[in-house]
Amino acid sequence: MSQLNDRLVALRGPVPAKGHDARTLAALTANPGCNRRALLDAAGIDKDAIAVHLGKPRPLVKSSLALRSGATFEQQVKADGCAELLRLLRDVLNLPLPEAAHTDLAVVGTQDATPQVRYIHTRNAVLEALRSTSPARTLLDHPILQLTVAGHPVYLEPDVVAFQIDGVFHIIEIKSFAVVDQQANGTKVAAAVTQAAAYVLALRELLAKEGIDGDRVSHDVILVTPRNFTRRPTASVVDARKKIAALTRQLNRLTRVEPLLDALPARITFDLILDQDKRPTRDPKELTAALQATTTRYTPACRHFCDLAYVCRGEARDDGSIDVLGSDISDDLGGIDHIGTALRLADGTRTPAADQADLAAALRHAHAVRTQLRESA
Ligand code: SF4
Repeated sequence: MSQLNDRLVALRGPVPAKGHDARTLAALTANPGCNRRALLDAAGIDKDAIAVHLGKPRPLVKSSLALRSGATFEQQVKADGCAELLRLLRDVLNLPLPEAAHTDLAVVGTQDATPQVRYIHTRNAVLEALRSTSPARTLLDHPILQLTVAGHPVYLEPDVVAFQIDGVFHIIEIKSFAVVDQQANGTKVAAAVTQAAAYVLALRELLAKEGIDGDRVSHDVILVTPRNFTRRPTASVVDARKKIAALTRQLNRLTRVEPLLDALPARITFDLILDQDKRPTRDPKELTAALQATTTRYTPACRHFCDLAYVCRGEARDDGSIDVLGSDISDDLGGIDHIGTALRLADGTRTPAADQADLAAALRHAHAVRTQLRESA
């Protein structure tokens, strides 16, 4: 592992690795065919800093107001030792009244609150709860979990609480999007459940290392959200089995990073070479050339989850890649990789290969209709 770490540090340069959270993990699995993302994420490289330095930052995904509102809601739910959360859990899980033991794992009793140290505290608290003979419930606030991604361990710092009920842990995800008349935005719910699924897998991995059955972590996750248009929280139990299965499949498919590292040119680095004021001094052309030594698979969906989206979109456009037009068109034009090829087949300046005859006929027809429409306009 240390040799692998050395190689990843060389890629990143002398700066701390950027950590994962379940959101970036879900994003990592959203484009499993992209080697560039796999390498940069494995090395903990700050992709946003690279995009900014190259003058192609991704616009803010969430406003600062939305971020503040989310943090305030989480604080409200967790105030007074998670009193409000306990009230909700008693409702949705039909718990009896006895008090729960609340442990805040952000307070580790030492100056060294690194993810590694907090993970060890989390692991100890989980095992202590599992081995306890007391019937007390256990709330673990601010846990740190570890999940193996592409053969490399990453730390997840959830804003969730693991709650042990009769020997089974439940993952709780607190989100600030509203549930109105018991309906919520489907995309946001799906994203929240995917995040919770990552925590379920990480907690199961922790138990597996101790020889404990993964069934001790429930596939039912609990979403806590504001009710209607108020700030009053409500809790819902969601069956995350499909998301857990999908995430497991995607993680298993992720390419291991060693072969990707082996394929890179010697001495390649994505180091931004920060000066003493932490400003990047790396020559952008050199950095672009280093990025281009990695292979990508850009799709328009990258804009929703990857900080390098505008960098990769620029490259794909320059390259005339069909992928910039989206998966529907890529599928329709299966076997054609470049926009220029499609255009030449459409205007008849390129002779189609035998297996392109039908596609070329359809493109020529579309081109003729378009020409007619333009002429009659
Ligand atoms: S934006 Fe680029 S690096 Fe990110 S996933 Fe898409 S192709 Fe890969």
